[in-house]
Amino acid sequence: RRGWIEVVCGSMFSGKTEELIRRLKRAKIARQRVEIFKPALDTRYHVEDVVSHNANSIRSTPVALAQEMLLLAAGSDVVGIDEAQFFDESLIDVCVQLANRGTRVIVAGLDMDFQGQPFGPMPALMAVAEFVTKVHAVCVCCGEIASYSFRVSASEDKILLGETDAYEARCRPCFLAGMQEK
Ligand code: ADP
Ligand code: MG
Repeated sequence: RRGWIEVVCGSMFSGKTEELIRRLKRAKIARQRVEIFKPALDTRYHVEDVVSHNANSIRSTPVALAQEMLLLAAGSDVVGIDEAQFFDESLIDVCVQLANRGTRVIVAGLDMDFQGQPFGPMPALMAVAEFVTKVHAVCVCCGEIASYSFRVSASEDKILLGETDAYEARCRPCFLAGMQEK
């Protein structure tokens, strides 16, 4: 069996989760064994859904550490990982190991944080992946193609969870203008 790594990245609201779900659903139609993971940012362990902003959803398993996926994905042909930016750097080696043993790995995550900086393990994952897809949102200010996630609130924490109305998809000029106003 041949494995490889696919990365789907972009800003918030760019359709990363939608695209991940689309690819995983097609793999299921082809009768492949599919497993979906996302980082457990709290300590609760239970099956949760990966949900896109247009309310498409698919069952997923939250994991606290990337390494857990090596065991949990033992029998899988295809592994999907959403919100990958929240894992630490060990995710890179885990994805490489999965691909090396024949698994198709599809990783979705934010390429940049709210300050426009590369986010966590994403840049390295993009380097080692066979396929990289950047998807784009619509700038809420001007309607152009948006690559940035602008944080509307003043918080400086890298991870600000919960409300999606804390962020706006913005194009480069509108992102820059917003950052200068802060
Ligand atoms: P991501 O996982 O990248 O955050 P999702 O797949 O969850 O994105 O959601 C994409 C959906 O978000 C779009 O299909 C659309 O319905 C909705 N949406 C809301 N705001 C925007 C925006 N500014 N640009 C594009 N899509 C948006
Ligand atoms: Mg998403």
